[in-house]
Amino acid sequence: MQENKIHVYNDGYKGKFKSSPIQYIIGDNGCWNVYGRNLDTDGYYYISRNCKKYKLHRWIALNEYGFTEENQKLVVRHLCNNKKCINPSHLKFGTPKENSEDSVLAGIQPHGETSGQSILNNDDVLKIKELLQNTSITFKELGEMFSVDESTIQDINQRRTWVHIGKEFTPRPKKDRVIADETVKKVKELLLEGKYLQKEIALMCGIDRKRVSDINTNKKYKNVKLL
Ligand SMILES: [Zn+2]
Repeated sequence: MQENKIHVYNDGYKGKFKSSPIQYIIGDNGCWNVYGRNLDTDGYYYISRNCKKYKLHRWIALNEYGFTEENQKLVVRHLCNNKKCINPSHLKFGTPKENSEDSVLAGIQPHGETSGQSILNNDDVLKIKELLQNTSITFKELGEMFSVDESTIQDINQRRTWVHIGKEFTPRPKKDRVIADETVKKVKELLLEGKYLQKEIALMCGIDRKRVSDINTNKKYKNVKLL
């Protein structure tokens, strides 16, 4: 369960310039997701301290683990792979090499449920993959169904994200644009009516003529039945 209470991290800073408090909300996996700040264009939060701009999670790691010469030379890894997390126990100093290995191990970011911005959960993704594989529902329709962008669905399909969920999933081929069941039904109705040329039906339904022909000969979309 996500707890929506807003926590404040006190870094004990007593500098001249007051800045807004470091606030966070604890996420499902114990991530401290930064709250009430704007992300910079690189996808990180920043904070000004001692007349210097720090990545917020770096500032916190230094604050927790010490401003040692060694730490200052290293990068801060997100063990949870959630860039927006500032939970000190999820942060670890490491080499740039280790840091990039983290990303590789995690697949491609954003990783999944643990990434702060994701509003899909593992169950949603399983369901999406099942629908992608077993129905002709479009990316757009799936996006609407799960209140995410069409591109999010495409990313799932192309295994750019959520690779770890439903491993036996076979992506839909890129080029084979899938037509919604509703459209297929409409095409079948129009074909049955017998009043229109296939060319005209194609225009009316916004699909190419070959598709209409394939539907007509039951070469494709055989599973979509009119009532
Ligand atoms: Zn975390």
